[in-house]
Amino acid sequence: MNKIPFVDLTAQYQSIKSEIDEAIAEVIAETAFISGKYARQFEADFAAYLGTSHVIACANGTDSLEILLQAMGVSQGDEVIVPAMTWISTSEAVSSVGATPVFVDVDPQTYTLNPDLLEAAITEKTRVIIPVHLYGHPADMPRIMEIARRHDLKVLEDCAQAHGASIDGKLVGSWGDAASWSFYPGKNLGAYGDAGAMSTASEELAIMARSIANHGQPGKKHHHVREGRNSRMDGLQAAILSVKLKHLPRWTEQRIHWAQRYSEQLAGLPVDLPSVGQGIKHVFHVYALHSSQRGDMQAHLSSRNIAHSVHYPTPLPAMPPYQHLPTQPFPVAQKISDQSLSLPLYPEMTEEMIQYVCEQIRLSLSLSESKSS
Ligand SMILES: *Cc1c(COP(=O)(O)O)cnc(C)c1O
Repeated sequence: MNKIPFVDLTAQYQSIKSEIDEAIAEVIAETAFISGKYARQFEADFAAYLGTSHVIACANGTDSLEILLQAMGVSQGDEVIVPAMTWISTSEAVSSVGATPVFVDVDPQTYTLNPDLLEAAITEKTRVIIPVHLYGHPADMPRIMEIARRHDLKVLEDCAQAHGASIDGKLVGSWGDAASWSFYPGKNLGAYGDAGAMSTASEELAIMARSIANHGQPGKKHHHVREGRNSRMDGLQAAILSVKLKHLPRWTEQRIHWAQRYSEQLAGLPVDLPSVGQGIKHVFHVYALHSSQRGDMQAHLSSRNIAHSVHYPTPLPAMPPYQHLPTQPFPVAQKISDQSLSLPLYPEMTEEMIQYVCEQIRLSLSLSESKSS
């Protein structure tokens, strides 16, 4: 094997090149560049895929979080609960609307918001909880929703890493009051640039979010009922996403298949492998294992040209923008930061590649064992 990339967007493009090229040419021929026909079509396609009534396309996933928080009326003085282990967009969006992120540690099995710790973090200022379906594993939505309802809080699901994940057959994004989506190129459903979307079953929230994303115009042009912002999806991204959405179910199954192959072949080694509970569909945006020998493994994989990553190397509360917040330990988030190692995973991988990666991991572990004994 000469080289194994972390993701391979070229291989995916090659596999659907004619469909993509045709879609792009159509958008250009019609100069439907901003919002417009193709964005509306993608909204309809994605709403059908999710089985939800409202999808609003926007410029990126970070905006989708921020706009939904605004549409929910979150502002200065409010608190929003977010997991200590996630990509910074989740907490950044909270600060961007003037509210304060309140971090809660994640569950040691699923790495998603730990419902056991949720109630202790709720105050009179809490307005919204943002569970993140980290790596593609659904957060414990039944319990989170039960707690949220009891405290009269809204729930905004961050689905950026979890297109198609579900709990007992119910898709993520359909549990909470609203959901935010990212189509950053490397995501399970990725555009060829920045793109995002918001989904909700609430017509009221949908109207508000759409209005905010388009300069406060809920419908008619030049009829501004409030100040909003510019966060629209461009036509090229929308057309590309409509093409790619048709392939998403097959790609998702392939990701799950490769993840299973990793888990089968790495079983028995002294590493923690991803666990998937009963009724859970984990869509493996990231396949992360955990090991106290991570440093040795990283060095060995690099020497064999096998790409790898860490999601994420620092718990959010430990980062400079959050140093002013009251601190407490986040032992699970810290352990993930110290020990997690993400392996290459994308639909176009081959059995040979998976076997090679596993072989090298096995080798790196036996090397580090012989070094320490
Ligand atoms: C990617 C990501 C986002 C933000 O998406 P962008 O489209 O890059 O703005 C938000 N939350 C999580 C958990 C993500 O992984």
